[in-house]
Amino acid sequence: MSISTKINEFKLALEPKGVKLIAVSKTKPIAAIQEAYDAGQRVFGENHVQELVEKEGQLPKDIEWHLIGHLQSNKVKYIAPFVSLIHSVDSLKLAQEINKQGIKNNRVIDCLLQVYIADEETKFGLGYDELIELLRSEEFAALSHCRIVGLMGIATNTESQRQINEEFKELAVLFNGIKQSYFKDASYFKEISMGMSSDYELAIENGSTMVRIGSTIFGNRKADLPDYKLN
Ligand SMILES: *Cc1c(COP(=O)(O)O)cnc(C)c1O
Repeated sequence: MSISTKINEFKLALEPKGVKLIAVSKTKPIAAIQEAYDAGQRVFGENHVQELVEKEGQLPKDIEWHLIGHLQSNKVKYIAPFVSLIHSVDSLKLAQEINKQGIKNNRVIDCLLQVYIADEETKFGLGYDELIELLRSEEFAALSHCRIVGLMGIATNTESQRQINEEFKELAVLFNGIKQSYFKDASYFKEISMGMSSDYELAIENGSTMVRIGSTIFGNRKADLPDYKLN
């Protein structure tokens, strides 16, 4: 099935539910992204900084670029001028660097805190205790140009629908608790980024507001080891 057909299918399925589609274009060529763009897609996700910067330079300026992969502090400066949302903030140090680059670029950079929900050691994200510690810290409160708009999580790569469901549920419960405790009057704190090609339907049932879909739209990737495990 063509990329544009897929984009249209997702649009029909997700728009009525108010769920945003992040088309994950990592490892895919410019032509494939352009095809999705021509079908109306404007939000794309990449997981490597260099690839993101190269693609941003070659594609229309009204694309919303999301960084979904593990981010090293020393690379924030390359994407700070244009990135729309960073899904993968997993330390105070990274949030502080994003803040610094936001100040330099005179813009507030929207971010999600990546929470560790999977049962796999290879995945990134803040543990529950770390998350609470970060949210309570004075250093976090002082960030003026790094705005936390929600949480992101990656479920375990397993056949067990029950387990994936539990992990998504856990993230949604955590989101609600954190909203009550730390973002009560912050209308911008509203995003739960969860769900990929294999599990987005379960994620939506559990309250996902943005799904990150790659292979179902663009086809399987070569060297199809999940890249977020390789970073
Ligand atoms: C690659 C990737 C996706 C998309 O995965 P698919 O299974 O191809 O839909 C989603 N989220 C993250 C963090 C990724 O690295």
